[in-house]
Amino acid sequence: MAVVYKRVALIGLGLIAGSMSLAMRRGRLAGEIVGYARSKETRDIAREISLVDRVEDTLAATVQDADLVVLCVPVGSMGAVMEEIAPHLKKGATVSDVGSVKKAVFEAILPALPQGVHFVGAHPMAGTEHSGPRSGFATLFDNRWCLIVAPEEADQSAVEKLAALWKGIGSNIEFMDPEHHDLVCAVVSHTPHLIAYTMVGVADDLRRVTDSEVIKFSAAGFRDFTRIAASDPTMWRDVFLTNKDATLEILGRFTEELFALQRAIRMGDGDQLFDYFTRTRAIRRGIIEAGQDTSAPDFGRVPVKPE
Ligand code: NAP
Repeated sequence: MAVVYKRVALIGLGLIAGSMSLAMRRGRLAGEIVGYARSKETRDIAREISLVDRVEDTLAATVQDADLVVLCVPVGSMGAVMEEIAPHLKKGATVSDVGSVKKAVFEAILPALPQGVHFVGAHPMAGTEHSGPRSGFATLFDNRWCLIVAPEEADQSAVEKLAALWKGIGSNIEFMDPEHHDLVCAVVSHTPHLIAYTMVGVADDLRRVTDSEVIKFSAAGFRDFTRIAASDPTMWRDVFLTNKDATLEILGRFTEELFALQRAIRMGDGDQLFDYFTRTRAIRRGIIEAGQDTSAPDFGRVPVKPE
């Protein structure tokens, strides 16, 4: 594959930046990858494991002469990072981000964008519950969607170049506007995370009553909630603070459906429950047919023997 950007700067060196770096290396998509994280500890680990080609100790040195600068920090930190890098950006460079929310990121970044510098957002729809510089891997984005979200007035060649990078990284591309992006993500990602956090919280309260039974029998559905509920607290706090409207909208609909199911259970309305579960089962089949998950039972997990 051909080099898409001569120099790429990654701000933040966690799961997403690390995986991007390894995937860009695999595809030979960048001439040089420079990286920065706020703590010395993360920068030292990144150097030790050669996560990027060069780790810098300041934001200014990291973005110097970069053709693409990608903000891979929590959504709530993007505005401050953008303000600090703005005076050091090269004319003609593109700034991008990987944030899970887009309207708030646009509002934080665009006012600080210098003349002659492009901005094109992106959101790779892939992740794990792990974070930090050791958590990245080159195949994270393979065959997963990456949503490219550009301002209306964006330079078309800058948009196409960023899309080419994400294709080279292994993703499938779709273009979206920021409002629609935030609503879609509230449905497929943000509200499910909130529900998982709540379910695990409820079970934790119960554990005090039932001793360790919640953990012991957790294979029965609960385990999958715990995986999601182990996701990074900073990242998810910022997601809910910045995608407030869309999350509250979907949460409202969720609560209505939950009440309807609650009523069906109370009234013994088996037909309603059966129809509802048949509809949701078809959604799972659709996800598998679209190649977005495995059809293996229990996601192909190997059973863990109890001690
Ligand atoms: P992560 O593994 O926790 O890494 C975050 C990185 O950002 C760390 O290296 C951290 O540095 C650095 N950082 C935090 N605040 C900073 C600041 N003010 N200045 C400079 N560096 C700073 O997080 P991640 O999972 O890669 O997530 C990064 C972004 O990707 C978030 O915006 C998130 O919404 C988005 N995203 C995440 C997922 C997912 O599933 N994880 C999926 C799609 C998109 P230190 O280590 O020094 O603290």
